[in-house]
Amino acid sequence: MSKENYNAYKNAQAQFDSVAKKIGLDEAICDLLRQPLREYHFSIPVKMDDGTSKVFRGYRIQHNDARGPAKGGIRFHPDETVDTIRALSMWMTWKCAVVDIPLGGGKGGVVCDPRVLSEREQEQICRGYVRQLARNVGPIQDVPAPDVMTNAKHMLWMLDEYEAIHGAKYPGFITGKPVGMGGSLGRTEATGYGVIFVLREALKELAIDITKTTAAIQGFGNVAQYAAELYTKLGGKVIAVSCWDNNDKTAYTYKKLDGIDVDVLMSITDRFGCIDKDKARELGYEILPGDAWLEQDVDILIPAALENQITAENVNKISSQVKVIAEAANGPTTPDADKVLNERKVFVIPDFLANAGGVTCSYFEQVQCNMNYYWEKDEVMQKLDTKMTAAFKAVYDLAVNKEFNMRDAAYVISINRVAEAVKKRGWL
Ligand code: GLU
Repeated sequence: MSKENYNAYKNAQAQFDSVAKKIGLDEAICDLLRQPLREYHFSIPVKMDDGTSKVFRGYRIQHNDARGPAKGGIRFHPDETVDTIRALSMWMTWKCAVVDIPLGGGKGGVVCDPRVLSEREQEQICRGYVRQLARNVGPIQDVPAPDVMTNAKHMLWMLDEYEAIHGAKYPGFITGKPVGMGGSLGRTEATGYGVIFVLREALKELAIDITKTTAAIQGFGNVAQYAAELYTKLGGKVIAVSCWDNNDKTAYTYKKLDGIDVDVLMSITDRFGCIDKDKARELGYEILPGDAWLEQDVDILIPAALENQITAENVNKISSQVKVIAEAANGPTTPDADKVLNERKVFVIPDFLANAGGVTCSYFEQVQCNMNYYWEKDEVMQKLDTKMTAAFKAVYDLAVNKEFNMRDAAYVISINRVAEAVKKRGWL
């Protein structure tokens, strides 16, 4: 499937339909769950720094809230599309269900490129976004969070606007806030660490010693950085990472056969995950084309960038040495590539399980906000590990007992939990 005709929503629906058929899901429930419950599409007018005015398109989509308030990030990306957000909102529903937290699925986005916007312009977009949605989101309706190219600073501007509109303090309106301003310790690390908690469990089940493994990672943003950090701490060796270079408008892979030094690499990486090419060269990194990360002779691949990265076109370039793929990004593998990986018996830890650490910690953040009492970092990390490990084990056991692959097993658990909530509420 080429990049041009790729549609994340069609992929999300295809994955859902195939599992719904396998488990004989009631037709009306299928109808309800294969599309979002609610969508908000709106315009955000902004006065730019140069005196001109610009209108940005914003979206918030609530896929399902039968298990609790909708939950999910807000992405800022120039290529954002409504169908991508629909897919991502759907994956959020399955994500919250698979780790069994009392939340539904939502996602938002603004078509914009924060890499070329000033701080003030970004703040205006954040505030404008909340002004359009203030009545339709909130701690007991729909709780946003950071995602691609948004971070704690954006969350705080959004919270401030929400509280100004409603005239009271609502720290539970949004998660991923700065620590000390209602944020949780460990939230920054949570998604990347969560990926490695489930990877660790997978390697145990597969009887692979993590200290003898090597990995290649796509992306070097927040998720990739912390995944690389913990994986290295557990004894693994990352030999390649790739990243998008916004100056050259292309991606590169940075390779070091004796293993990357995560801290050093982070020190030459900007806040959007772009590594400084010249400095990397000076440090002895080999600089290869963007796709090279996927072609390395490693045991583990961690796609930690965007959707639609492992496709029918490049799946056969994956080395026969690769045993595990931990999907840190949302929707990195297309269904046709997934089929090939299944045939090749590659153990794929599906996205909505592998990267559920972020939303799980967001849930902990909300709990702490409600109590107005904040846990130590060790306590957060311990609780995160417990949740991720339990979710992995439940999916793995089902996969083994029913001979499902891990993605289908995760879908079966999530769809059943959401369908049960829908039925118990008497919606259908
Ligand atoms: N944006 C993250 C995700 O895709 C986190 C969502 C959240 O914390 O609500 O899972």
